[in-house]
Amino acid sequence: MATLTNSKQVIYYNYINGEWTDSSSKELLESKNPATGEVVGYAQNSTVQDVKQAIDTVFHAFNQSDWGYNPKRRYNALLGLAQLMEENIEHLARVLTMEQGKTIRESRQELTGCIDTLKYFAGAARTIFGRSIQLEPNNFGVIAKEPIGVVGIICPWNWPALLMIRELAPALAAGNGVIVKPASLTPAISVEIFKLIDQVPDFTKGIVSIVTGPGRAIGAAMGKSKKIDMISFTGDTSTGKTIMEMATSNIKKLALELGGKSPNVVFPDANLDKAIPLIGRSIFISAGQICMAGSRLLVHKSIKDEVVFRLKQYAENLQVGNGIHETTDMGPVASQSQLDLVAEYSEIGRREGKIITGGYRLTGGDYDKGYFFAPTIIDELASSCRVVREEIFGPILAVQSFSTDEEALVMANDSDFGLSAGVWTTDVNRAMRMSKGIKAGTVWINTYNKNFPEAEFGGYKQSGQGRTRGIDGLMEYCETKHIHFEID
Ligand code: NAD
Repeated sequence: MATLTNSKQVIYYNYINGEWTDSSSKELLESKNPATGEVVGYAQNSTVQDVKQAIDTVFHAFNQSDWGYNPKRRYNALLGLAQLMEENIEHLARVLTMEQGKTIRESRQELTGCIDTLKYFAGAARTIFGRSIQLEPNNFGVIAKEPIGVVGIICPWNWPALLMIRELAPALAAGNGVIVKPASLTPAISVEIFKLIDQVPDFTKGIVSIVTGPGRAIGAAMGKSKKIDMISFTGDTSTGKTIMEMATSNIKKLALELGGKSPNVVFPDANLDKAIPLIGRSIFISAGQICMAGSRLLVHKSIKDEVVFRLKQYAENLQVGNGIHETTDMGPVASQSQLDLVAEYSEIGRREGKIITGGYRLTGGDYDKGYFFAPTIIDELASSCRVVREEIFGPILAVQSFSTDEEALVMANDSDFGLSAGVWTTDVNRAMRMSKGIKAGTVWINTYNKNFPEAEFGGYKQSGQGRTRGIDGLMEYCETKHIHFEID
């Protein structure tokens, strides 16, 4: 199989039953650099037939091998992949930046997160404990944790390496067989990681596959397949709802990591020197294309002018450009359709409120080759405004103000989403009240975007179902069985 050494074009194949195969369609999908328009590589435009073949082989490998019974083998496999990713991190980071557009520094951070996640779940594979219980005289129960079977993992394009590994690592650690379908915008980085999987002998042949192609065809085939026992889906809330409907075919287990509209709530006693750059980063990292983006700013009236002024300065000082350059702070958005969507929301925001900075596509010179949008802040917005309520997935911050703690809490919770939130205060009582009151899977106090493989992550309300990361994240990939002994 060809390897990608620089920006030259490469063909990426499906990985099925431990072998590189092309699609039965014989068609390829282009993966393009959103900063330059250049083709990064070509991936298989797979068909339902291809994905069915992958499901059959994973099903066979899971049922015919000792993978599910061999935690040490799984530990060695995951550690082996972590080691290879460490050795190849610069190459992977370049592919990730060229394909997705994020800055090279973000790419290294994303890949470091993958390596850390693999190491954590490698160890966890050896600690999948059940329980035992005396139930009656002569009756004894063992409550065992077992793999579910065949898991389908459907991934988005915004953090394509980490969001794949975040699910792949616990699914494999728990002893399942896995089929991955990456997003159509980011097949290259996903298949590059599978090239490393292929080099680790501890992975049982056929236990893990990747098939690239359109979600509506092959993602849907995974959603409907009766041989898949669980779907782990990360993506848009509306797609998540469609997957829920498909999963009824065989009452599949589901883990859903969906959209967000997360607030940063800033009180007058906050340390603004610390808060401003982290709030700025929370919305402009990955050009706002991150599920936990701090896309709503709720700020106390008494400090609003100062906070908005300082965030405007932060936004205007960001270097926007091709992420491959070390000095770039923010790259392009991922595609033309994403750029159109962001521009549309910016215009909606212009009508609904007041643009403080940004609000336009960046043009001229190299900007014309890619999908660059200026970091944007919109103020004077009511809670009913669309830019406050809807996930934009772009570099647009919506600002609102409040007068009391009670009002701040109501506004923070006035959303269909509940993925994450930031609270900025030096008053520990206020921090405790807010963190208990906010309906979100993660609440950061005086920080933002801090994630660890050992700490659970996930959504309240329409931000998802189940938890990823941590022990709860591992247990999502396990079935529970009661084995009952009656002693004569
Ligand atoms: P998306 O829903 O458009 O696509 C996600 C994946 O689903 C892709 O692989 C796509 O091909 C596939 N897909 C599309 N239609 C399908 C169908 N009918 N059946 C099966 N699969 C289908 O999402 P996206 O645009 O790739 O990602 C952005 C979204 O993901 C945002 O809403 C973001 O908030 C969310 N997200 C959530 C988290 C989290 O952890 N909660 C993390 C990252 C992204």
